[in-house]
Amino acid sequence: MTFHFPFDNSYARLPERFFTRTAPTPVGGPRLVRLNRELALHLGLDPDRLAGPDGVEILAGRRVPDEAEPIAMAYAGHQFGSFVPQLGDGRAILLGEIVDHDGVRRDIQLKGAGPTPFSRRGDGRAALGPVLREYLVSEAMAALGIPTTRALAAVTTGEAVVRERMLPGAVLARVAASHIRVGTFEFFATRGDVEGTRLLADYVIARLYPEAGKAERPYHALLDAVIERQAELVARWLTVGFIHGVMNTDNMSIAGETIDYGPCAFMDAYDPATVFSSIDQHGRYAYGNQPRIAHWNLARLAETLLPLFSDDQDKAIAEAEEALSAFGPRFEAALHAGLRRKLGLFTERPEDVALARDLLRGMAEQRADFTLTFRRLANAVADPARDDEVAALFADPSAYREWAQRWRERLSEEPQDGATRRVAMRTANPAFIPRNHRVEAVIAAAVERDDFAPFEKLLAVVARPYEDQPAFADYADPPQPGEEVRQTFCGT
Ligand code: AMP
Ligand code: MG
Repeated sequence: MTFHFPFDNSYARLPERFFTRTAPTPVGGPRLVRLNRELALHLGLDPDRLAGPDGVEILAGRRVPDEAEPIAMAYAGHQFGSFVPQLGDGRAILLGEIVDHDGVRRDIQLKGAGPTPFSRRGDGRAALGPVLREYLVSEAMAALGIPTTRALAAVTTGEAVVRERMLPGAVLARVAASHIRVGTFEFFATRGDVEGTRLLADYVIARLYPEAGKAERPYHALLDAVIERQAELVARWLTVGFIHGVMNTDNMSIAGETIDYGPCAFMDAYDPATVFSSIDQHGRYAYGNQPRIAHWNLARLAETLLPLFSDDQDKAIAEAEEALSAFGPRFEAALHAGLRRKLGLFTERPEDVALARDLLRGMAEQRADFTLTFRRLANAVADPARDDEVAALFADPSAYREWAQRWRERLSEEPQDGATRRVAMRTANPAFIPRNHRVEAVIAAAVERDDFAPFEKLLAVVARPYEDQPAFADYADPPQPGEEVRQTFCGT
């Protein structure tokens, strides 16, 4: 009996120049590492079948379900500021789309499933380490409530991939609201293919932004909506200390989900200049630079839409610039709302921004841990005796104490009691993030010792980021001196 996937493949019905039809390349000995059973159920897939032999063969790309129409999507992109006219899915194959239990159409893609016509010099494969990192971090982001692609499964292939050395190969089954990127628009626009750009925009509106379709000027409304989602997404990243690492236009989803987890990591001590990616030598994608880069990427998107805006180029440019000017205010509004939530404020005052900024400045100067500071603030809000626990995170505790006095004065202007505030703050300030030294440690255990127990444990902890989980308290701790991991690698 064949495994039935309820695929309905709308992207594969677009013109052939949008993709190439490419099947996964079979692998030797697939083995299931992890199945996201909850997500499988949400997609209407039977987790027991997926975990069984034929399911694992599908997840590894060794067998293609009947209803799948495997394609590699075409896209271009600006990488570190330089335009590359053709990138495309070089190691990812879209099996098809499933409408989930919420009525949302989701792509199911196999990342690391073998070469495609877009592979250039790459092998089309993924190493186990980056697959586990993406699984962990994307599922942590989902648990934090931040829009993201999801991990449906990870399998090892039974084959080695050649990187700096031989490493176990793996495939990640990734689920996304869509894999269309800013770079997908650039692919058509930079070829002068206005009809392609229009078809893509119409597709995106129908699938992701139906309300834009009802607007008087749908393409303008589309740009506005993408700008809004991206501004909100990057603000959410900043409120949890997330650093994407490679915010190239081909790694920015039009759907507003966090996508393409490469050398991504969460910050420990607060420092806006933090960079993890080994290839980001100039800090282009540093933590604090992410809003500026998002805006830059959105300007590249806006350029692709100019011919759809107006035949009058000056008019089109003016309209695009107006749309882009909304990014800054939108981002700041989202960030400030997020920071107010993190500080336990229920109302909005103009001076709140300075209050938040001053805490952050103090944290930066005193190398305070980002996640722990806010989590401990949540515990101190109803119990000033616990201020000591926050102050202890600052190299000079008096820096915190002076600020705390202002904070408490501000809190006293609101009627909420400490207990109410504590509950609210604990849902805005996670205890657990996938700390980079932990991520590296679980990857090392899996890759070097074939031991996946540490991965399972970390995954379970970060899946409940807002709960205390006293049994796993040490997972909340920052790295000890000597444990820090300052660089992450794409691993491609
Ligand atoms: P990334 O840095 O993962 O966003 O990938 C950038 C581009 O390189 C995309 O077009 C990928 O499909 C392609 N790519 C990355 N790794 C590989 C690989 N191992 N084999 C083939 N193409 C790859
Ligand atoms: Mg990418």
